[in-house]
Amino acid sequence: TETYGTDFLVRWLTAAAEAVDREADRLTELDSAIGDADHGANLKRGFAAVSETLAKEPPTTPGAVLTTAGRQLISTVGGASGPLYGTLLRRTGKALGDDERVTRAQLADALASGVAAVSQLGGAQAGDKTMLDALGPAVEGLRESFAAGRAAAEEGALATVPLRARKGRASYLGERSVGHQDPGATSSALLFAALDETAGA
Ligand code: ADP
Ligand code: MG
Ligand code: MG
Repeated sequence: TETYGTDFLVRWLTAAAEAVDREADRLTELDSAIGDADHGANLKRGFAAVSETLAKEPPTTPGAVLTTAGRQLISTVGGASGPLYGTLLRRTGKALGDDERVTRAQLADALASGVAAVSQLGGAQAGDKTMLDALGPAVEGLRESFAAGRAAAEEGALATVPLRARKGRASYLGERSVGHQDPGATSSALLFAALDETAGA
């Protein structure tokens, strides 16, 4: 079984930061339809801080990479997505513990506890048209392969289009949130695409 070390996690989050930077305008455009048009800017700021911190003081375990990144997101992103993604990464990092190398199965298990923590913090469930609609399926897909995790996240993000938002700002729109893709589910798909790319590189 292949194992992944600290450097892999750093490369993942650095690739995620690049993807968020590249797609920031699209994320903001999605958020302008059913939110307040800041999702791209929020994540761009947060992930720029993450990659800067990881480059400056590289943590020494995979778990510490994720907890450090999560802390950065919480402290630099003002919107709802900061604490939510921050909690995802922090809880996932804690679940990985002090291991120097982790398997894909361990990463999937750890991410599953991170996703549960996001649901607990924000009170959202599958089908509420949030990032959880991409994150949940992505983690299940990841148990099979990095590519399956990526595909499931993308499908999950697309599947938010016909849903009515029940959490977050988009829920204020009620029925008018139907017909738009959720910004947070879309950024979650970017994270799992970056993970697959990092694994394939
Ligand atoms: P804000 O809504 O505060 O401006 P962002 O625009 O950065 O924050 O993030 C919006 C995204 O956050 C939404 O598209 C949704 O995916 C996610 N989100 C909002 N509220 C919740 C929640 N309670 N649970 C899970 N995800 C949520
Ligand atoms: Mg917003
Ligand atoms: Mg906002």
